[in-house]
Amino acid sequence: MDRFFNFSAGPAILPLDVLRQVRDELLDWQGSGLSVMEMSHRGDAFLSIASKTEADLRALLDIPDDYKVLFLQGGASLQFSMLPLNLLGSKKSANYVVTGYWSKKAVIEASRFCTVNVAADTLSSGGKKAPDIESWKLDVNAAYVHYTANETIDGVEFHRIPETSLMPLVADMSSTLLSRPIDINKFGLIYAGAQKNLGPAGLTLVIIKEDLLGFVQEKVPILLNYQHLADNDSMANTPPTFSWYVAGLVLEWLKKNGGLNAIAEINQRKAEKLYKAIDGSSFYSNTVQADSRSWMNIPFMLAEPALEKLFLKQATEAGLLYLNGHRSVGGMRASLYNAMPEEGVDALIVFMKTFEKNHG
Ligand SMILES: *Cc1c(COP(=O)(O)O)cnc(C)c1O
Repeated sequence: MDRFFNFSAGPAILPLDVLRQVRDELLDWQGSGLSVMEMSHRGDAFLSIASKTEADLRALLDIPDDYKVLFLQGGASLQFSMLPLNLLGSKKSANYVVTGYWSKKAVIEASRFCTVNVAADTLSSGGKKAPDIESWKLDVNAAYVHYTANETIDGVEFHRIPETSLMPLVADMSSTLLSRPIDINKFGLIYAGAQKNLGPAGLTLVIIKEDLLGFVQEKVPILLNYQHLADNDSMANTPPTFSWYVAGLVLEWLKKNGGLNAIAEINQRKAEKLYKAIDGSSFYSNTVQADSRSWMNIPFMLAEPALEKLFLKQATEAGLLYLNGHRSVGGMRASLYNAMPEEGVDALIVFMKTFEKNHG
């Protein structure tokens, strides 16, 4: 069996132990005589998978009882619309902080439903940093403030939660949730597409404080209504059962490996190693401000852009896959999610040094 190191930003690498368990259980889940794919979502077998997954998520993230956890479809991008539709209530505006590609997308979608106050924008100024909350210009009458905790494409991450008591804090955590412990109490709502750091594509997680339910706009499609989805335990219609199950196995794997404190330490070490290799060379560069560099997604440029194709070709031959940057920005990007073993980062660094020696 040839397993390559997958540096894709998403759908992304999954833990090998999890894939093995999926394989072993694929035809017959724990003596049920069925694959999880074939099970009714209302049957006892799947309901036990669903509730164990939620319990493990709550334990890992220490989610308080007054928060609901929703297992949805539609990706993080559908949340860009669901947020204003569900949270505005009688308010007319929402605050957004723009730090990269995904927060910009969130603004564009929210603008269809309300007045968006851009409270800070480091993307337009080319800043590549996570701006301190002290610099945010908040509209205090807005329904909420939204930020992207980790910009998957730009490699910009907030390493501190921007705390505010003025209004609910909403975070897109698609590419950073479960990479470290966080204090859920500081948030009104957190959402994340699963395919970065949690499981297969098709599942989207929403963690919402209960007192934010019930502000939904009239005529919002019922399946976009958080209250309705919460009332039906995320089973208002058929949920993405297989992705839910695999996410559950990933959470078990995380628990077995020491939980979020342990994984955070490993994630920090992996990222620091790669940044050190980049900073220590004149051939590679990363221009994100030092205190805002992502642990999960590390973009870098080659001094000679003409060599990018060759770099990617030789990396693939060396078993290092998907190191290309997002099509909107070019360059390179290494995604180092929880499931990326430290040996993968070591192999990448060795490859980069060799490539620089031969071509730099
Ligand atoms: C990938 C990503 C998205 C979009 O996710 P989809 O599930 O494809 O809609 C949104 N925000 C962030 C931060 C992402 O990394």
